[in-house]
Amino acid sequence: MSAFLSDLGRSFFGDVDPAVDGGYEDPPPRKGFFTDTSVCIGCKACEVACKEWNLIPEDGLELTGNSYDNTGSLGSSTWRHVAFIEQEVPAHLAAASAIPGTGAGAGLGTAPPVDLGLPTPTLPGETADAGDATDFRWLMESDVCKHCTHAACLDVCPTGALAHTEFGTVVVQNDICNGCGYCVSACPYGVIERRPGPAGDPAVGIAQKCTLCYDRLTEGMTPACAKACPTDSIQFGDLDELRERAVGRLDQLVEAGEPRAQLYGHDARNGVGGTGAFFLLLDDPEVYGLPPDPVVTTRRAPAMWRQAALAAATLLGGAVVAFATGGRP
Ligand code: SF4
Ligand code: SF4
Repeated sequence: MSAFLSDLGRSFFGDVDPAVDGGYEDPPPRKGFFTDTSVCIGCKACEVACKEWNLIPEDGLELTGNSYDNTGSLGSSTWRHVAFIEQEVPAHLAAASAIPGTGAGAGLGTAPPVDLGLPTPTLPGETADAGDATDFRWLMESDVCKHCTHAACLDVCPTGALAHTEFGTVVVQNDICNGCGYCVSACPYGVIERRPGPAGDPAVGIAQKCTLCYDRLTEGMTPACAKACPTDSIQFGDLDELRERAVGRLDQLVEAGEPRAQLYGHDARNGVGGTGAFFLLLDDPEVYGLPPDPVVTTRRAPAMWRQAALAAATLLGGAVVAFATGGRP
């Protein structure tokens, strides 16, 4: 009940600082991730570093049969998930996505290759097979909890186990979570989940997701996944600075010939008030399995409370009248 009452003082919409909204009076600058998918090489170093640092149990190492993906989706034991999307695209776009200097993707169209900023290794055989390539490209994206400004998981939690930190990130406090699972259905991105096993793991039955390495942040360290990323696809820092950097990078890619490049979660006016983890995508969000227009699922909670209060007042008024008139018409 106390968690519910403290929530009444919180904002469910608008441009707010989540740390201030969470009760911190003088928080440090909001921290977050800018994930530039255009330079992701799908190495999964982020997934491994996350598991290693956070002592997350193994959750199946079988290929899904859906591209080179062996984790499938975000979940209670997969706090970073690298999506591998095989996409057939018009030849000029495939050519635009070629890795400069390698010849990969060259010969697919007339547009010159675009320098996405990827490393330029010398590949075995160099350009020998490039002419055989088809209209195909890889889209890779390291997905994570979005650390929403207006986080539905946090809004619905009856125990206060989910909370905004002083960095504006969203964490689960394992010792307070009662495993009710309300947060699981509330998250508009399908991120959070109760851990099903293995037996003996201390977090079994408890809601789990990325903490943005809260323990590392309090020591002034970079989150494990960002630290491990070899191409700087995952960039960590002050959110305002990251947002500026992302706009510059988007302009660069569009100008270079990636017309469908777009930012996702960057806009503070979107349905969740902007996200602490946002992305630069090379195509529409649906292509990556992301909801195109997510909305915080508790957006109608204030109106519902008002209507519930009105209904209660009406009932109370009726009871008072009935009592005063002795039940006579
Ligand atoms: S993405 Fe889902 S789990 Fe993460 S903060 Fe937003 S609502 Fe919560
Ligand atoms: S910030 Fe930490 S907990 Fe979150 S995905 Fe990266 S390594 Fe995992």
